[in-house]
Amino acid sequence: MDGAVIEFARSDQDRAAIALPDALLGPDGVSDLLNDLPLRLGRVRQRTLRNPIHCEGVGLHSGRRTRLVLRPGEPDSGILFRRSDLGVTVPGRFDNVVDTRLCTVLAPSDRPDARIGTVEHVMAALAACGIDNAVVDVDGPEVPVLDGTSRPFVFLIDCAGAAEQESFRGLIEVLRPVRVEDGPAWAELRPSHAPGFTLSLGIAFDAAAIGRQSYSMRLSEAAFRRELADCRTFTLRQEIEAMRAAGLARGGSLDNAIVVDGAEVLNPGGLRRADEFVRHKMLDAVGDLALAGLPLRGAFHGFRSGHGLNNRLLRALLSDPAAWRLSGGAVRRAA
Ligand SMILES: [Zn+2]
Repeated sequence: MDGAVIEFARSDQDRAAIALPDALLGPDGVSDLLNDLPLRLGRVRQRTLRNPIHCEGVGLHSGRRTRLVLRPGEPDSGILFRRSDLGVTVPGRFDNVVDTRLCTVLAPSDRPDARIGTVEHVMAALAACGIDNAVVDVDGPEVPVLDGTSRPFVFLIDCAGAAEQESFRGLIEVLRPVRVEDGPAWAELRPSHAPGFTLSLGIAFDAAAIGRQSYSMRLSEAAFRRELADCRTFTLRQEIEAMRAAGLARGGSLDNAIVVDGAEVLNPGGLRRADEFVRHKMLDAVGDLALAGLPLRGAFHGFRSGHGLNNRLLRALLSDPAAWRLSGGAVRRAA
């Protein structure tokens, strides 16, 4: 297949013709690219869920059983989390993140008690499935962990169905590199000449079952479903006691997390993929970065990056007006 040439002209500044070599076309082909260029032109309509749908399960850290309802959302509303037991709503945005120990926790600034934890796996599923607007009701302090992946949320979204809305989707284009560090760990967002959003992540653990792993991908719905959605969260056996003492991981079990002890994976069924660990960390990054509120155009690079660095990275990007710009249709919401 020859490289695709796509011409677009919205303003003189945007006037360009991009010749894309085959190497840039992912396994999903041109469809990946078409998710990006019409986006930049504001020609992709926002999507929400067609119907409400619910599930129940325990929270990984709280151990509390909660009911989660995914509901259709208004155009330009983004993903709104709602503590249905308290009647408090908090937008799923980076600036509402109040805790990043082991999971990403949202709370409104005027209601710090109305926390909703472990939002990253459902955020990743909604973002990757192209759901721009939805209300996520949770009747307790934490989203159910289910099997520790995004797959059950993708299943719920598929069952609910998607509906196009009148508003157009925008995106956040990274214009210059932004980097945050924490000791040896770091995370960066860089501009990209290629369309869409790419991720590249490395991890390094002393536990021999994990060791050093890296993974790179171009984000698309198909790639997320195929490569990341079923990869489970994980923990080290020796850290479980410390986490429980800190009031965390109370709902953790071999049914919703991989537990590693040195060179051993304690789950009877073993791993779903040899590199399931780094793929899960990338799934987390997709969910954490979705808290930008709009799709990103650029490249994410990270080494041992987790929820804390992912959130600091978004804060660093979006607090620097020279580092990004809005393209497409959502200027009103982000303004
Ligand atoms: Zn996770």
